[in-house]
Amino acid sequence: MSLTMPKRTPLVAANWKMNGSQAANAAWLRAFTGRRPEFRCDVVVCAPSVYLAGLVASSEIDFGAQDVSEHSLGAYTGDIAAAMLIDVGCRWVIVGHSERRQLHGESDEVVAAKAEAALAAGLRPIVCVGETLAERDAGDTLAVVQRQLDAVVKRVGPAGLARGGLAYEPVWAIGTGRTATPEQAQDVHLALRARIGVIDRTAADAVRILYGGSVKPANAAELFGRSDIDGGLIGGASLVAEDFAAICAAAG
Ligand code: PEP
Repeated sequence: MSLTMPKRTPLVAANWKMNGSQAANAAWLRAFTGRRPEFRCDVVVCAPSVYLAGLVASSEIDFGAQDVSEHSLGAYTGDIAAAMLIDVGCRWVIVGHSERRQLHGESDEVVAAKAEAALAAGLRPIVCVGETLAERDAGDTLAVVQRQLDAVVKRVGPAGLARGGLAYEPVWAIGTGRTATPEQAQDVHLALRARIGVIDRTAADAVRILYGGSVKPANAAELFGRSDIDGGLIGGASLVAEDFAAICAAAG
């Protein structure tokens, strides 16, 4: 980051994954909403799509989806279009989460098409990239995340990416309790920002790069203290409102 750039506002995103119920969501909101004004960071809660309309109606917090179709409408049974998410008041969407890549076979090209569809409808995509343990052990971390990044940048450009965000989520750190060290994460974030900067320095300075992978209240501040780590994408710890609030406090 250039010394003259204002610091990027941190972004902390919850990824509830396939968890929650109307009662549990209401309890979470009761515990978290009153604390929101304390945090000097942007906050978004990515909830299961079926709950989004109700959540948006009951809270001032920003909400996001966990996936979106790359298609705009039509015969795609079970899929949800970006315009539908906008229609219910959603502002953000996660695309390319490793669970979607691994369990649903999403390719780099599909992830890029999803990011493009989101932006076209006015949704802000959080694009996830990350290597497996085998790829890290083989010394391929940067090659993998740069390939995943390039596919999206080719489709939406650096400025499109900066309208949403990028999340570095090493697959071996997701839900495993094993976190990348702040140095490991910072190294990858720096490399990702440099890669974007080759094409567009302004967008590279502006884009928020989140770290995700077993972030908890105990390790959040150290991770967020690194110059290229602009917040986090939080899975397991986001299910407990008090823990998520503590992580937001560490970012803001
Ligand atoms: C995630 O699924 O995006 C994630 C980071 O999960 P966890 O925090 O549980 O590792």
